[in-house]
Amino acid sequence: MALAAAGLVAAAARRAGALDSGGAVAATLVGASVLRFAGWGPAFVLVFFFASASALSALPGKRGRSRRGARQVIANGSVAAVAAVLQGASGWADLAFLGAVAAAAADTWGTEIGVRLGKRPRSIVTFRPQPPGTSGAISVPGTLAALAGALAVAAAGVWLVGGPAGAVALAGLAGSLIDSLLGAGPQAAYRCPTCGAQPEVARHAGCPERARRLAGLPGLDNDVVNLLATAGGALIAVVLDSVL
Ligand SMILES: [Zn+2]
Repeated sequence: MALAAAGLVAAAARRAGALDSGGAVAATLVGASVLRFAGWGPAFVLVFFFASASALSALPGKRGRSRRGARQVIANGSVAAVAAVLQGASGWADLAFLGAVAAAAADTWGTEIGVRLGKRPRSIVTFRPQPPGTSGAISVPGTLAALAGALAVAAAGVWLVGGPAGAVALAGLAGSLIDSLLGAGPQAAYRCPTCGAQPEVARHAGCPERARRLAGLPGLDNDVVNLLATAGGALIAVVLDSVL
């Protein structure tokens, strides 16, 4: 039943152009794990995050439609799925789940709004102006959108799961901060010798060639950074709740 429900949502998202086929399979597995092990409340929080992220990325004002693939879905959803599976095994699994989803929402909302409205983003480390879309560059609209994403998941979490809104919202914002700091520092930067694109991952859409790494740590691409940021959001939610 969980697989069927998650599969229906993923198939609808694929039809709407939000996921490619691999992304739909990964989203089905993530969604089914959350529904099967954590129940309807967390599953609705996950669907809320996913629907809001897909709606924002479909807004006009950015070149190139981005259908999410399996690697992106796993990067954003696997920490939440693992936390859901650990439900029942431990009391902090709900919090870790909400922290991970809040971090994913903060990062996605911040990125989608930031690239559209943030005219002159600045490096989070040096504060020097950067071209829009640069990893680790932040803007006022993007940061406000990240805060709104974290608050939205915290509110949905309080309503549907029951959890401390403050710890979840702060954890989400902290997760997007981790994302920006890694983006400005050790995250790998790529350029494709064939098509000239500067993608955030080596395997990029619409090109058979792998992009070459120009700078940063090998393997630490945008997807791995997202995975670390959601893990950070999960951990920070649990720690904050125990100290607040
Ligand atoms: Zn290319």
